[in-house]
Amino acid sequence: MKRWLWAMVSLVLCGGMVGCRAVATSFSRSGCALDTAVAVTIYDNISQEKAEEALTACFNEIERLEALLSISRDGSDVTRLNTAAGNPVAISPETAEVLWQAKRYAELSDGAFDLTVRPITALWDFKAENPAVPAKEMLSQAAKAVDYRQLMLTNTTAQLSANGAVDLGGIAKGYIADAVCRVLKEKGVTSALIDLGGNIVMCGNKKGEPFRIGVKDPFDTTRLCAVITGEDSSVVTSGVYERGFTVDGVRYHHILDPKTGMPVDNGLASVTVVCRSSAMADAFSTACFVVGEEKGMALVQSQDNVEALFIRTD
Ligand code: ADP
Ligand code: MG
Repeated sequence: MKRWLWAMVSLVLCGGMVGCRAVATSFSRSGCALDTAVAVTIYDNISQEKAEEALTACFNEIERLEALLSISRDGSDVTRLNTAAGNPVAISPETAEVLWQAKRYAELSDGAFDLTVRPITALWDFKAENPAVPAKEMLSQAAKAVDYRQLMLTNTTAQLSANGAVDLGGIAKGYIADAVCRVLKEKGVTSALIDLGGNIVMCGNKKGEPFRIGVKDPFDTTRLCAVITGEDSSVVTSGVYERGFTVDGVRYHHILDPKTGMPVDNGLASVTVVCRSSAMADAFSTACFVVGEEKGMALVQSQDNVEALFIRTD
């Protein structure tokens, strides 16, 4: 896992010049965390010192939560839970909260979004140099161990079945983006944009104007196919293009059907969800992608203040 120490610090001095003094109109920091590129940009009219302090607090929060929720870090709450062989494990309040939320979205989507999908995701390596498709029998065997109802939760402990394991890849970035937005508010920031690998949170608006968030064209990710405007809201996309590989001309991507263990193939290229909670937008975009257009639309319409954009492969 990459460290935020690698982060490149960039103060964006993109304002006009007043006399000889540059006026910063935004303050931005980007880096690598959560196995992806992350960035926070503050638009408030504040001193550079205050902005730097807030940005440092944001990146500290990302690091703090990643250390709890990461599936690949030794000693994280998730790693301890996944290696507990069915025994109860003490967890932090934050981990309990994200597990509760994830379980709720699993229930709402009837297991299309299932945080206990780890036995399946463990068989796929989308970053391998020579990627391979796991054997069907192994996938169907692993799928038997996937069942969010097996996760027993209290506010301080979690317990899985002996062969169960969780993977918060479909919700953690959203959850952490919400937490970063809270940190910014605590620091008095009222106008900022958070981007955790494409999980976007608009904190307030952009200096009185709505933010404009581009949605990537799933068939040419260098282009945008839509622009979503908003404020105090989150935009999250799940798509076939994010992580995956091609073998013998067939594309295999990272959103997996918990029932079969295979990448979902239902005529959708991407689903973008817009709502206040980024954790919800993250889980819902994955869930809608798995259940497909019709059921996904129904799922979105069953919730207040949730909107979605479905893009078909055709
Ligand atoms: P991204 O990680 O690109 O933002 P998603 O939010 O759609 O994309 O999450 C995909 C990740 O979620 C996968 O990499 C995996 O860790 C996990 N995942 C895959 N399939 C499911 C599923 N059916 N339910 C819950 N999580 C899933
Ligand atoms: Mg998601």
